Amino acid sequence: LVTVDHLAKAFGDHVVLKDISFTIGEGSVTTIIGPSGSGKTTLLRSLNALEIADAGVVRIGDVTVDYASVTPDRRGRLKKPARQQPARLRAQSGMVFQSHNLFPHKTVVENLIEGPVVVQGISDSDARTTAAGLLEQVGLSEHADKYPYQLSGGQQQRVGIARALALKPRLVLFDEPTSALDPELVGDVLGVIKDLAAQGWTMAIVTHEVKFAQQVSDQVLFIDGGLIVERGGPEVIADPQQERTRTFLQRIL
Ligand code: ATP
Repeated sequence: LVTVDHLAKAFGDHVVLKDISFTIGEGSVTTIIGPSGSGKTTLLRSLNALEIADAGVVRIGDVTVDYASVTPDRRGRLKKPARQQPARLRAQSGMVFQSHNLFPHKTVVENLIEGPVVVQGISDSDARTTAAGLLEQVGLSEHADKYPYQLSGGQQQRVGIARALALKPRLVLFDEPTSALDPELVGDVLGVIKDLAAQGWTMAIVTHEVKFAQQVSDQVLFIDGGLIVERGGPEVIADPQQERTRTFLQRIL
């Protein structure tokens, strides 16, 4: 479903992604692990053109962006024709951030229907039906009419996940979805993500939770210094082959 070819990105002189290539199969889960500052978030954001990479190709389904042909102006803005492909790519995926970014003045269900109704032009009643199903999936049906501030951090994050799914993306991207949560709330959110994996959602997850990565991944990418240093199935976590992966995992396990 997803192909990434020779992706590269620098911020000024600071080369963050050197040369990254991988694929993600339909219905599979890829976790991205690696030291702080190794470029994981930049990689994830480049997958949906929230970050405009310098070079490389990202394809999701039948939408392809060749970053070499997308040149932002000096302020990082894209001219109109150049905006179209990144915008199409963005529409292929849903992003779950570290902190949920919910609209504080809208209820849970209003947060879920906003994107489908405003962006995709879906009718209010269809969007509410989808939202009700998603809230049931993330275990929050009884909280549909509450405001974000009335929920715990873990519940808010589960709403954030449901909101990303409401747009029916082909790919769901998670950027450290549990790192802003109190430890006792982490398990519920990881449980929801595991359920989604079992249902066949295609996902790419940046995470520091390596035990979770071991349980949920079809593919693990270990990134360091802007390169994929090691890749493989979940066994990479228990039995890394590269010294750099071993050192990293020893430090955090
Ligand atoms: P962490 O695990 O700490 O979140 P990460 O592996 O996700 O780290 P990135 O957030 O991708 O790493 O950042 C990689 C490097 O790029 C960092 O040194 C960061 O300071 C730098 N960086 C990221 N975004 C920008 C930006 N918009 N402008 C300048 N530098 C940036």
